[in-house]
Amino acid sequence: MPAKSFDVIVIGAGPGGYVSAIRAAQLGLNVAIVERENLGGICLNWGCIPTKAMLRSAEVFHLMHRAKEFGLKAEGIGYDLDAVVKRSRGVAKQLSSGVAHLMKKNKVTVVMGAATLSAPGRVSVRTDTGTEDLQAASIVIATGARARELPGLEADGDLVWTYRHALQPKRMPKKLLVIGSGAIGIEFASFFNTLGADTTVVEVMDRILPVEDAEISAFAKKQFLKQGMKILEGATVRKLDRAPGKVSAHIESGGKTEVTEFDTVISAVGIVGNVEGLGLEALGVRIDRTHVVTDEFCRTGVPGLYAIGDIAGAPWLAHKASHEGVMVAELIAGGHPHPIKPGSIAGCTYCQPQVASVGLTEARAREKGYEVKVGRFPFIGNGKAIALGEAEGFVKTVFDAKTGELLGAHMVGAEVTELIQGFVIGRALETTEADLMETIFPHPTLSEMMHESVLDAYGRALHF
Ligand SMILES: Cc1cc2nc3c(=O)[nH]c(=O)nc-3n(C[C@H](O)[C@H](O)[C@H](O)COP(=O)(O)OP(=O)(O)OC[C@H]3O[C@@H](n4cnc5c(N)ncnc54)[C@H](O)[C@@H]3O)c2cc1C
Repeated sequence: MPAKSFDVIVIGAGPGGYVSAIRAAQLGLNVAIVERENLGGICLNWGCIPTKAMLRSAEVFHLMHRAKEFGLKAEGIGYDLDAVVKRSRGVAKQLSSGVAHLMKKNKVTVVMGAATLSAPGRVSVRTDTGTEDLQAASIVIATGARARELPGLEADGDLVWTYRHALQPKRMPKKLLVIGSGAIGIEFASFFNTLGADTTVVEVMDRILPVEDAEISAFAKKQFLKQGMKILEGATVRKLDRAPGKVSAHIESGGKTEVTEFDTVISAVGIVGNVEGLGLEALGVRIDRTHVVTDEFCRTGVPGLYAIGDIAGAPWLAHKASHEGVMVAELIAGGHPHPIKPGSIAGCTYCQPQVASVGLTEARAREKGYEVKVGRFPFIGNGKAIALGEAEGFVKTVFDAKTGELLGAHMVGAEVTELIQGFVIGRALETTEADLMETIFPHPTLSEMMHESVLDAYGRALHF
């Protein structure tokens, strides 16, 4: 059978791929998308969305325990883990079906199967019923990533879990070890700890949430410790000895190794790109460790071949993947999109308290030679935070003392993952301290703390 012809073929239907397909179709291109598992990719099925559904259950559970503080009564508070998971899977399914609807609406041809680049401009798809050949002048690789497995710490789905197992746990861990304190590790630690698991987090770096501003990491750590979590920083899990129903973890810290027993381990030590089996090497695509090397427009160097999202490297975030998808679609359609500014991509962690940031940390700004002005404002100084019963946290802003440019914003506390976008817009518009100080923030809102933090950087905070 002759190959079916399209203007664009997108491989992988995660937030990078499916958004790219929609934008390309909007621009009048004839688009096919190939997906081997679920429309929506990791994000909608095994990442961003189902984790947030589970964390919401934990948050409600936590609030139910605080009912008395709000003048309410809640008795016999408990949870049904299967029902929590069922809700999370239902939310994921709903969104994945939504992507199917969007593909139909935008007349994108969906081919379910595993794609390989068989020759320049040619894609061969292994489907349930055989092989389908497609061709297009432009091909977008958006095959994403999967959990990194370290030797000796490999997941087995029973005692040692990756995020996929942790999203559909067969049992509630009693004594849980989480290896890695990046966003994924900390979110699972927060979820299981809130539901009552005796949770230990081991982080190889000298502090948890190591990419965040040091003050944010320290504040979050204090809150987690208060919630009963155990945290080992500058520590390495060297070995896991598995026996029926238990794992003995050899944890090295400060030159000493201790062996501690757990019934469950979650390995959250990073991700690796899905570069294998695509035929990339044969086409001359450069791969650095497990990521495709691209330029600032996601071009691979092979004419007509682009790579976006997790497969194209850090930051491994859905909104980065989607934005690259749009940019590439516009490029293919003959547009002149702007390259992505990595410093304007916010990172959010939905633990309790939440953490969110954009731009440079204070330390990084100083390392880069900036003379900085730093502002801080605590949740305790904000009326809305107190009314919500969420008075723990703070907002920190970092400015270039010479120009007033907002270099970075860092937050920890309730709903900061919603607030951060205000500063993202600020950075996108190259906002200075003067613009932010002149902005009128609505009252009473948590966003007023963003204003106050800016004012504080210039010695003008009003409510603290
Ligand atoms: C537990 C967890 C929580 C997360 N939470 C967040 C969050 O809160 N916010 C955030 O921004 N990010 C979060 N992420 C990261 C986010 O999920 C990824 O950054 C995002 O999914 C990347 O999108 P993508 O389109 O590049 O790839 P993916 O979403 O990984 O999609 C790639 C798709 O390609 C398909 N595929 C792979 N190879 C082939 C092939 N050969 N043929 C056909 N199809 C193929 C895969 O099946 C997959 O569906 C989280 C990740 C995890 C694991």
